[in-house]
Amino acid sequence: MSIPRILVVSLFCISSLAMLAGCETTTSGGAVGGDRRQLLLVSAQELDQLAAQSYAKLKAEAAAKGTLNQDRALLQRVNAIASRLEPQTRVFRADAPGWNWEVNVITDDQVNAFCMPGGKIMVYTGLAKQLNLTDDELAVVIGHEMSHALREHSREQVSQAIAAQTAIGVGTALLGLGQGSADIANIGYQALIATRFSRTDENEADRMGLELTARAGYDPRAGVTLWQKMLNANSGSQPPAFLSSHPTDSSRVQTIQSLLPTVMPLYTAAQRR
Ligand SMILES: [Zn+2]
Repeated sequence: MSIPRILVVSLFCISSLAMLAGCETTTSGGAVGGDRRQLLLVSAQELDQLAAQSYAKLKAEAAAKGTLNQDRALLQRVNAIASRLEPQTRVFRADAPGWNWEVNVITDDQVNAFCMPGGKIMVYTGLAKQLNLTDDELAVVIGHEMSHALREHSREQVSQAIAAQTAIGVGTALLGLGQGSADIANIGYQALIATRFSRTDENEADRMGLELTARAGYDPRAGVTLWQKMLNANSGSQPPAFLSSHPTDSSRVQTIQSLLPTVMPLYTAAQRR
């Protein structure tokens, strides 16, 4: 039985795209490992620009509603935490400490936080209040979010969407069924604003985030209590918004526990400085 022509064309296209992109890695390994090779078809600059626009829009909307940076105490806490984490990013990539990192707080009951490509962080008051987070636990969340940006997981997702759409487009055009005009800009935007990280992404962000936390002198054991609080909140009537973009399960706490022997010495060394 022969392989259908459309499938051959599609496979060829995907492998060509992968070769063109060179399957690079955005970060080096650190102590925990973070050097899986990634398919990257759009430039970081394009995505950072898109993210900066989305972030500015979100801030303007919150400011208009009177919910931007109204909780001065929480803003001060997350700024202090982020400024200790930022210099530690150099362990994974040399350019990251020089990024235009930014942290803002939105007054909103939802349990949520994210970091857009390029280092644009948003923390919702509900995250700290509803889970009653300590500084160490906040450091774990922010370190996790920063790691998604360091690994450029959104850029990877956009690239995968483009690869899939291009393959379909080429096959369709060859069969004379249409022009195969994939709206790449639209795919990119959708993937950016509706990011649902994969389990692989989550595992990488957990590992790297824990290392950043430890190197910044925050107790990485807070990763265990943070995720226990998150899972407990998940059993309530209002599941945290955070968990819809960061899929999780109970094995996560065990994974974090198994990483502690690797990152605790980094925490101890940071304490001595
Ligand atoms: Zn995540």
